[in-house]
Amino acid sequence: MKIVIVGTGYVGLVTGTCFAEMGTDVTCVDIDEKKIENLRNGIIPIYEPGLEDLVKSNYKSGRLKFATDLSSVVNDVDIIFSAVGTPPDEDGSADLRYVLDVARTIGQNINKYIVVVTKSTVPVGTAQKVKSVIREELDKRGKTDIEFDVASNPEFLKEGAAVQDFMRPDRVVVGTESEKAKKMMEKLYSPFMLNNYRIIFTDIPSAEMIKYAANAMLATRISFMNDIANLCEIVGADVNMVRKGIGTDTRIGTKFLYAGCGYGGSCFPKDVKAIIKTGEKYGYKLELLEAVENVNERQKHILFQKLMDYYDGNIKGKTIALWGLSFKPKTDDMREAPSLVLIDQILKAGGKVKAYDPIAIEETKRRIGDTIEYAKDAYDATVDADAILLVTEWNEFRLPSWSVIKKTMKKPVVFDGRNIYNKNELKDLGFDYSGIGISI
Ligand code: NAD
Repeated sequence: MKIVIVGTGYVGLVTGTCFAEMGTDVTCVDIDEKKIENLRNGIIPIYEPGLEDLVKSNYKSGRLKFATDLSSVVNDVDIIFSAVGTPPDEDGSADLRYVLDVARTIGQNINKYIVVVTKSTVPVGTAQKVKSVIREELDKRGKTDIEFDVASNPEFLKEGAAVQDFMRPDRVVVGTESEKAKKMMEKLYSPFMLNNYRIIFTDIPSAEMIKYAANAMLATRISFMNDIANLCEIVGADVNMVRKGIGTDTRIGTKFLYAGCGYGGSCFPKDVKAIIKTGEKYGYKLELLEAVENVNERQKHILFQKLMDYYDGNIKGKTIALWGLSFKPKTDDMREAPSLVLIDQILKAGGKVKAYDPIAIEETKRRIGDTIEYAKDAYDATVDADAILLVTEWNEFRLPSWSVIKKTMKKPVVFDGRNIYNKNELKDLGFDYSGIGISI
């Protein structure tokens, strides 16, 4: 089978590479010429565990190719996936500009039957729009006899574990009205389904809605726990104990119940906003999700508030060690990262930031330049620091040598934004400690 993936970002590159690994002939297309040139030279634009080796080996074998001109590759393939970005519009709804650009190019160039699959996260009704745009372009060319089908195949991979998630998916959702498209998608995904058949076929609107509902549910669990955590702190409870106490209820489960300093990344914030906008468009107010978003905004400020409270509202001239910059571990993605909000607040309050992240320093420099100091490792960040703020729970931050750190800090205080440390242990070592939802 031959396929094209349009948009070679986090989703497109992982999708294309994993399909190629299973023997499919894949061309990944992107309008970013530099990115494509780099990929051809073995330079991978993102950090994702396991991806680099797979890209290089599949490119070398010829199963994975890269191109910049979509029009020149649409006629030699069976399926075209669109995995371009759908960033939030000014009002928070999904900006479909790139998705519809791709549809237009397809309509302007196809000369034979093809299945056009939307993999980007898009609001209900988008596949229908894609279909109309392609049909319009075909009509303009007088090619009314050319047939094509559309499908919706939302992606559920997690950054930081994207290759693993794609290779062993919990489920694959495919929305289509066409039996022919269904059979082709089933064949394409069959290598991933050998041990356990997990393809869920739905109608198109349901497939589009499933992706938003899934992300909205996960974001809701996070905001719920953050809200409970804040109350725990006020009333003198420990949210870690509460989490264990409720997570063992099989109806609730243990996943996504961790309190922290807010969710970020390229998906949850924009997808929660977009589904709220879809509700508004149809005259329905998604009150629960509005609250989820508000709680998250508030939570991104919590470490700063704790820091200010600790220093009686004045951190002028203080050096704050920041551990972790990316929005979550094992990625260099800084989109909507809580660390950026925190840095901005500390700098505005007259504090200095000395930050360390195992992977995301380059990407942070690209965004905020030299407004902060970058440390060479976690220990270097704490030298002469007035506080440590743990923002991203990378593995290497989990068991530091506190006795070494205590000697080099100006003031031994830790604000644990992901609740990965033991309060009593740190107190015994002479640190002041504050977690999220853990009263001091
Ligand atoms: P990204 O920004 O990393 O990549 C998008 C790519 O599309 C960019 O390289 C851009 O240059 C390219 N592009 C834009 N217009 C193009 C065009 N006309 N032709 C060719 N290339 C074009 O985005 P991403 O994180 O991979 O997300 C893509 C979609 O997948 C979004 O809708 C997102 O919500 C969804 N999604 C993302 C994740 C994730 O973890 N990142 C997970 C599931 C779903």
